[in-house]
Amino acid sequence: MTGYSVDGTRLWSRLMDMAEIGATANGGSHRLALSQDDEDGRELFLAWCENRGFTAVFDRIGNLFVRRAGRTPAAPPVVIGSHLDTQPSGGRFDGVLGVLAGLEVLETLEDLELATEAPVEVAVWTNEEGARFQPAMMGSGVHCGVHSLAETLALTDASGIPVAQELERFGYDSGVEPGSRAIGSYLELHIEQGPVLEQEKKTIGVVTGGQAIRWYTLTMTGEETHAGPMPMAMRRDPVRQLAAVTELVYRIGLEDPDARATIGVIETQPGSFNVMPGQVRLSVDMRHPDEAVLGHMHGTLAEGIAQLNAEAEGVDINLEQTWHSPVVTFDTQLIEAVRTSAAARGYAARDMVSGAGHDAFHLAKVVPATMVFVPCRDGISHNEREYTAPEHVRAGANVLLDVALQAAGVQAPAGATA
Ligand SMILES: [Zn+2]
Repeated sequence: MTGYSVDGTRLWSRLMDMAEIGATANGGSHRLALSQDDEDGRELFLAWCENRGFTAVFDRIGNLFVRRAGRTPAAPPVVIGSHLDTQPSGGRFDGVLGVLAGLEVLETLEDLELATEAPVEVAVWTNEEGARFQPAMMGSGVHCGVHSLAETLALTDASGIPVAQELERFGYDSGVEPGSRAIGSYLELHIEQGPVLEQEKKTIGVVTGGQAIRWYTLTMTGEETHAGPMPMAMRRDPVRQLAAVTELVYRIGLEDPDARATIGVIETQPGSFNVMPGQVRLSVDMRHPDEAVLGHMHGTLAEGIAQLNAEAEGVDINLEQTWHSPVVTFDTQLIEAVRTSAAARGYAARDMVSGAGHDAFHLAKVVPATMVFVPCRDGISHNEREYTAPEHVRAGANVLLDVALQAAGVQAPAGATA
């Protein structure tokens, strides 16, 4: 602990001000990535930064980097980041907290006239949510070399608008090359998006890493036909297989308390009352904190589907894995710094593994990185009623401050408690 603290009131009022941009009727926010609302949110954030004299740089995928200079300008900065985009009916804290807490750290350093050795930066990553353009964690993925810039620029939203067109509209196409800016270490504060901290009355989640994720598209193909004339026994009906497939996925998910299995999309083609569908398409999302166990779940799914496919007469069942995000392990020293800060400040804390994906997962592939979680009410997120109490917002930002100061290197001025 450093003996310094953030201004929790200022941070809270910024969170509430940001929520007014794209405000929804039920108290949430709607700022889809690279929409006018998203841009308006960024402009507000940049106005706050410029007001304190912090300079901003952006790259060609629209990631923003706001710097407070260090004593050693050439040192790679300690970067605190997250995202300002939201789900269509998103809340006030997911992502926004991490960005505005980063700005609060910068402002606190400025208020205290504390010089750090390395610069400290706040990063705003483009399109973390993946609600408008897929994949999620897009900007951080391009920065870290996980996705190519050219392929990402060509991605389109549901109405066919390419990422490149929106970036040009807001002038980001004149930015620096993504990934060209060095990062020394990376910190991200986020709401937990689960119920554990609240249930256990903990203030700080010391995030040790993220669970492994696999995504699949499951396609069941028969032949569409009129709902009336064709006798049941003569149909090639893929919907009939839905129960068996769902049963298999849930059996895998329920095998182990740490496992998760989710069917988020179910589509029938052509989707008409009086047509027996010719095709059913499902999404399957499976997660586990242990890579080997997820591999086993994968095997069980693949075998189960192969067996169902062999048994299903007249229907072809095809499983395609579309994404695999391996287990993420955060930096031991940064994790320890989070633990130490929480303990010194008297915040009840526990170690945990992130169930959701975050920009920090990409960053952890290329630089030392870690995350800090704070509780959110009822574990609810991606929801307009998402809420984190002001004291938890402040506590999370204080931990960020401590860890950033340690990572950036600071000498306490005479008279200050170190
Ligand atoms: Zn988020």
